[in-house]
Amino acid sequence: MVSIKGLHKSFGDLEVLRGIDVDVRPGEVVCVIGPSGSGKSTLLRCVNLLEQPTAGEIRVAGDLLTHRDADLDRARRHIGMVFQQFNLFPHLSVLDNVTIAQRRVLKLGRAEAEETARGLLASVGVGDKAGEYPARLSGGQQQRVAIARALAMKPKLMLFDEPTSALDPELVGDVLNVMRDLARTGMTMMVVTHEMAFAREVADRVIFMDGGVIVEEGTPGQVIGDPRHERTRAFLRRVL
Ligand code: ATP
Ligand code: MG
Repeated sequence: MVSIKGLHKSFGDLEVLRGIDVDVRPGEVVCVIGPSGSGKSTLLRCVNLLEQPTAGEIRVAGDLLTHRDADLDRARRHIGMVFQQFNLFPHLSVLDNVTIAQRRVLKLGRAEAEETARGLLASVGVGDKAGEYPARLSGGQQQRVAIARALAMKPKLMLFDEPTSALDPELVGDVLNVMRDLARTGMTMMVVTHEMAFAREVADRVIFMDGGVIVEEGTPGQVIGDPRHERTRAFLRRVL
């Protein structure tokens, strides 16, 4: 589903990604962990070309996104992204947040878009909030709406960048539950997270990044439970 080869990304003189190779199979859940500044967000942002790689190849669902003629708008339709800050449109109702791209991008009619939206909002546990504005929702509810909004585009791949980091602790569980349910449906997911319990339970594979490279990867049991590298152990001592 995702194939990343020799990915490099620099910002000026700062080389943030220094040769990343990752393949994600359809239905696989890959959690990316690592210290602040290690390049996790940059990696995810390169996967949907929110950042232009300095070198390397990125393929998603068969499309070579790094080809100079790539149709990025079309390719990005296959990729949903959920950020730490929920980024809902504040002036739109919850329902309109979830229908707008279906209508503008997928060109669906109102009734069809709303039916999909209501189904998704119910599935993430905010079915009763369709008529509200985002500001009247808790952070956890807003984040679940953001997930529903991404799913409305019927993505083949979902990218999550620390989706629970901005939430009060008591709201984290609801969002993780939605992500766990989504993983069970067979969605392909790349998740940057500090939630080690979630990574252990839900990830098929954990990638530990430091300094713009993948230091080690493997099953959660290997990487979190029995890390081989001292850098991984030092990181886990700080977060566990
Ligand atoms: P965190 O856990 O704090 O979110 P991260 O692993 O996601 O960290 P990145 O956000 O990918 O790290 O940033 C990696 C490095 O790239 C940092 O040194 C950061 O300052 C730098 N960086 C990221 N985006 C830019 C940008 N647009 N311009 C310049 N430098 C950037
Ligand atoms: Mg980050």
